[in-house]
Formats: sequence, structure tokens, C-alpha cells
Amino acid sequence: MRNSVLAVLVLSVAVGFGAQPPAKATTWDQIGSYLRLIQSAGIEAMVANDCPLGLFGAYHAGREVLLMCGNNIPDDPAVVWEVLAHESAHAMQVCKGGNLMPEELLAEEMEATIGRGADTFHELALYRSGRHHVEAEARVVQALPPQDVEALFIEHCGDRLEP
Ligand SMILES: [Zn+2]
Repeated sequence: MRNSVLAVLVLSVAVGFGAQPPAKATTWDQIGSYLRLIQSAGIEAMVANDCPLGLFGAYHAGREVLLMCGNNIPDDPAVVWEVLAHESAHAMQVCKGGNLMPEELLAEEMEATIGRGADTFHELALYRSGRHHVEAEARVVQALPPQDVEALFIEHCGDRLEP
């Protein structure tokens, strides 16, 4: 009896050790429900399997298509979520017809994002200066938890949602 309790304990410790920290984990369910929200605003979500190396996703404003690069994104919901949230931020910018936040607030949000250990802003040097603000906003959004991203989407694209 005592041995089997010990075995269960060892098993649960082993399982717990292998799992990702639950606080930060994004689930496929959350991804699915956010995708449905985006689609109900008239935005088409597509998966491409022939993207150029290094491209994770894109948003085509004219066609209102959000593209996810299946051949470059690892099969990890945390990464899929980041790509989806990032590209959806570009959709929000189109809904709003401009930047999501003014320069000063963006600077604060970037600081906060770096403070949470998600610094992807060094890559911004790759973008021409005109895209810098737009890309920085998308990087702030991709580091937010799903419920915050959903709330932002509803704030900016809510008037396009089907009742
Ligand atoms: Zn972007």
C-alpha cells in the first residue's frame, strides 16, 4: 500500500516536472476561441505551408486575410498564440485606422513587456522607421495574455462583429 502511494507520488512529480508552468500556458482552446472571434469580424484566417524561411505569419489588410505559416511555426500553442496575437494586432490597427496607442504609451508598454521577460524589440531594427511603431505595438500585444488580447480586439474591431 505504502509503495503504491509512493509510486503515484513519483509519477505525479515526474509529470509535473515535464509540464510547462500552467500560469503562462496558452491552450489550443484559447487559440480556437480567439480565431472564431477574429473570423466573426470578417477576417479570414488561413494556414500556408509554403512560407519563406523565417516568416511566421502576415496580415494582408486589403484582403483582410490573416496568414499563419504552418511550415515555420513549431507545434507549440505558446508560439502559435504569439503569431496569432501579433498578426491580429495588425488587423486591429486596420480596424482602428491607425496606431493603437500614442508614442508615450507605447514606450511604457514596451518597458512593461521587457520587464515581463519578453524582449522581442531588438528585432525592430529590421523594419524601416515608418513601420517601427506599428511593429512595436504588435510585439506588445503578442506578449499579452489571451483575455487581454481578446478585450483589445473587441475594443478596436468590435463594431464589425456579427451580433
Ligand atoms: Zn508585424
